[in-house]
Amino acid sequence: MSAILEINGVTAGYGAAPVLQDVSISVPTGTICAVLGANGAGKTTLLRTLSGLLKPTAGQVVFDGQDLREVKVEHLIRLGLAHVPEGRGVVTELTVDENLRLGGLWRKDRADARRALDEVYQLFEPLQRRRSSAGHQLSGGERQMLALGRALVARPKVLLLDEPSLGLAPRVTAQIMALLRQLRDDTGLTVLLVEQNVRSALSVADEGVVMSLGRVVVSTSAEQLRGDDELRHAYLGF
Ligand code: ATP
Repeated sequence: MSAILEINGVTAGYGAAPVLQDVSISVPTGTICAVLGANGAGKTTLLRTLSGLLKPTAGQVVFDGQDLREVKVEHLIRLGLAHVPEGRGVVTELTVDENLRLGGLWRKDRADARRALDEVYQLFEPLQRRRSSAGHQLSGGERQMLALGRALVARPKVLLLDEPSLGLAPRVTAQIMALLRQLRDDTGLTVLLVEQNVRSALSVADEGVVMSLGRVVVSTSAEQLRGDDELRHAYLGF
C-alpha cells in the first residue's frame, strides 16, 4: 500500500531543545492511524509540524509525493492536508453555516464547494438543524462536528485530528469515531488521529503509533495493539 504521508527522521520543537526526536511514521493511503502516548509525549507538536506551523530542524515530511519544505503553509490545504487543532478553532461569533463556508472560501470550483457543503450537512445532521446558530451556542459535540465539517468542506486527502474526543460524552465520541470510519470507507480519507482516549482511537484505527518523550516507541497495526496485553500495559496503561 502506498503511503500518502511519510515522516522521515523529523526533529522539531519550540526552542533550542527539540520536542520531537528522529520521528519516522509512514501513513498508508486511506487508513486511520492513531497516535497515542501520555501527556507531553509530543503528539500535538507532531501535528503542528505536519501542518507547517513548526519547521523541522532535521528530517523531512513528504505529503502525496511532495516534500513539504517546498510548500508554503497557506497552500497545504489546497494540496489536501487539513488540520483540526485541539480546542477546535470554531469562530464563535459566526453561525454554523458561516463557519462551514469559511472552509471552502479559497476554492475556485464554487459549484463543488457548494456540493461539499451539502455533503457535510448530510453527514452531520445536528449541524443542519443548527445552521443559523452562532458558534458559541453549540454544545461541545456540535463544535467538534463543526470543526471537522469545516475541514471536510475543503475535501482533504489527509485529516490531522487533535483530540476530537476531548470533553465529549462517550456517546458523542463514538459518533465521531463512526464518522471517521465512514469517511475512510466511502471516500478513502486518510486520518492521523491524536487521542488520549486510547480505546476509542483503537476502535477505529488501522495503524497505531505510540510516542513517548518525543520519540516513536511502537509502530504497528491497531489490531496488534488491541490484542497484545503486554504492549498495552507497557505503553498505554490498560
Ligand atoms: P498533550 O496531550 O498534553 O497535548 P502531547 O503529547 O500533545 O500532550 P505536546 O503538546 O506536543 O505533547 O508537548 C510536548 C512537549 O512540548 C511538552 O514538554 C510541552 O511542554 C512542550 N511544548 C508544547 N507546546 C509548547 C510551546 N508552545 N512552547 C514550548 N514548549 C512547548
